Amino acid sequence: MKVAVIGAGTMGQDVALIFAAVGIHVILKDTHISILDVALSKIKSNLRFYRMAIPEYQSLDKTFIEKYIHPTTTYDGFNEVDWIIENIPEEWELKRNLYSDLAANCDAKARYAVNTSCISITKIAALMPSPENVIGLHFMNPVPMKPTVEAIQGFHTSTETIEAAKSLLKLVNKKMILVNDSPGFVANRLSHLFMNEAAFLVQDKVAEPAAIDAIFKEGYGHAMGPLETADLIGLDTVANSLKILYDSFQDPKFRCCPLLQKMVDAGLLGRKSGRGFYSY
Ligand code: NAD
Repeated sequence: MKVAVIGAGTMGQDVALIFAAVGIHVILKDTHISILDVALSKIKSNLRFYRMAIPEYQSLDKTFIEKYIHPTTTYDGFNEVDWIIENIPEEWELKRNLYSDLAANCDAKARYAVNTSCISITKIAALMPSPENVIGLHFMNPVPMKPTVEAIQGFHTSTETIEAAKSLLKLVNKKMILVNDSPGFVANRLSHLFMNEAAFLVQDKVAEPAAIDAIFKEGYGHAMGPLETADLIGLDTVANSLKILYDSFQDPKFRCCPLLQKMVDAGLLGRKSGRGFYSY
């Protein structure tokens, strides 16, 4: 089994890590070598935390990262991979250009896992010569710590691809819950309403972020509050997903909170930039 992971940001780093951790070779592709250098050092520092939190990771030393993760900016080796797991930003134009490139550079037999928050799997698959080989695998953040993946069956996704995805996830000890294709699927159609409304609560000065999150955690028993979650995901990714939900459903309930958009414009992207609703 060989895997290619495209996009070495928040999700791509963790997705590459979980496969490397079980001894699967991963080609990790991004646009610039400098981005890949940062990604590899982040994978190493994240591993320090995962070693404490995940029993199976305790015996891993960081040398396995160099052994199993192969950074690249080209398509060398893509013809030999069984799965391509895509994690580039939640922007339709970027994804569309990438999939056109993939169609030209990859073996038609390869299967594609689209790790998107909201974008239609059917629309992405339509760009490919073998749309039946495309499935949505919405990994949850932080990937090594979440046992479940939301899998999305597009219009063309074949039963074989669904079964192959199940086997792929089994290798990294994850189960999938299969849903049908619709913008935001289940997880993000729900969670983005919470995160967006929490941003409106801050904007309307109803409560500070810490109080909003504490009510969610202590009152409802959630592990994280909506604003902590938004910071973890990346506020740019949250705003992009809301835009897709708004455009797809034409429903004002998905309009992006102006404060959230202003924070993105100011470069406050959450954990990945060091500041969002909280400072890191
Ligand atoms: P990110 O912005 O942290 O990282 C994206 C990476 O893709 C960057 O390193 C960027 O340089 C790279 N990239 C951009 N264009 C590329 C191209 N053409 N080829 C190769 N690399 C390219 O984004 P993220 O948070 O990792 O999100 C990635 C995808 O996963 C999005 O579709 C997002 O909606 C989805 N997702 C995110 C989360 C989350 O919690 N952040 C959770 C589940 C799914």
